[in-house]
Amino acid sequence: MDLPIKLISTDFDGTLHTEDEHPRIPLALSQLLAKCQAEGISWAINTGRSLPHLDEGLARAGVPLRPDYAIVVEREIYRRTPSGWEAFAEWNDGCTAAHKDVYARSAQILLHARLILDEENVATVYADEYSPLCWIASHSESSVRIHTRLDALFAGKSGLAVMRNDIYARLSHPDYHKGSALGELSRHLGIHADQVVAAGDHVNDLSMLSHRYARWLIAPSNAVAEVKETVARQAGVLSPHPCGHGVEHGLRTILAAQNKINAGAHIKSGALT
Ligand SMILES: [Mg+2]
Repeated sequence: MDLPIKLISTDFDGTLHTEDEHPRIPLALSQLLAKCQAEGISWAINTGRSLPHLDEGLARAGVPLRPDYAIVVEREIYRRTPSGWEAFAEWNDGCTAAHKDVYARSAQILLHARLILDEENVATVYADEYSPLCWIASHSESSVRIHTRLDALFAGKSGLAVMRNDIYARLSHPDYHKGSALGELSRHLGIHADQVVAAGDHVNDLSMLSHRYARWLIAPSNAVAEVKETVARQAGVLSPHPCGHGVEHGLRTILAAQNKINAGAHIKSGALT
C-alpha cells in the first residue's frame, strides 16, 4: 500500500498566489489546504521571498491561510507556533555559515560576475543579507542569458550558484535550495519523499520538483517550459489551470489517485486473506 501523503510544499508567487486576481489565492485552494491540514498533512510554503515579505503576501492574500512551515529565500526553514515563526536554528545557522564562508572565498570571482552584469547593462544590482550580488534583469531573455553566463563562470570551481526567479536573481551556495530545504523538513518530520507533494512554476522550483524530495509533483499552466518538462518527465500533474487553480486541481488529482491506489491495494490484500 502507498504511504499516505504527509507534507505539501508549495511555491508562493505564480504557484499559490497571483496579484492578477482577487482574492490573490483561490478560496477553494485555501479550503482544500485547510482540509488537508485537518487530516494531518503538513503544509509548507517554499518561496524565494524573505519571511517578512511572505507574511505581507499572506496578509494580502484575501483568504485565510495558515501554513505549518515556511521555507524562505529558497533556503531557511521556519515553523509556525502560536507566538509566531520559530527558526530551525541548526539548519539556518549552518546555512548562514556556509554562505558566509563561500562568499568570503569568492571575492575575485564575484568581481568577474559583477563585470558580466555591467556588460549586460543590468540597471538594478544590489547586495542584501543573503547575497553580495542580487540583480533585476530588464527582461526574461536578458535574465536567462546572464544566468547562462554566470553558470559558465562558476562551473566546477567557485561553490557559487545562481538562484533565479524570472528576472529576479541572487547568488547562493549550491547545497542550499528549495529541494535540500524540503529534504531537511521531511527528515525532521520523519517522512519519506514518497509522502511529499511539491508544486512550483519557475526555475528556482526545479530543485524541489524532483522525486529525490517529492514523489507527487504539480505544475500550474503558467509554469515555464523547464518546469513543465521536469514535472512531465516524472509523471507529475501538468494542470490546465493557472496558479492556485492549478495547484487545487493538481492536489485533487493526486489525492484521488492515492485513494484509488490504496483502495486497490486494500481489495488486493483482502482477496489474499
Ligand atoms: Mg514562483
